[in-house]
Amino acid sequence: MAGSTSVPCPTCGKNVEWTQASPWRPFCSERCRLIDLGEWLDEGHRIPDKPADDQGAPWDPDQAH
Ligand SMILES: [Zn+2]
Repeated sequence: MAGSTSVPCPTCGKNVEWTQASPWRPFCSERCRLIDLGEWLDEGHRIPDKPADDQGAPWDPDQAH
């Protein structure tokens, strides 16, 4: 069999060796793993304690036009 297997990192596409040298596999790094996890969490259940950015915008209708 081939000596080592590598997989593309799901986040950035970088090749990751599927060995014990890559503790974050299939991700290339902890950062990519957290990014992917964050996206998953964001889709699963949105964090409610953050105010929507599209409301309360600092623009005054009286000054528009
Ligand atoms: Zn990566």
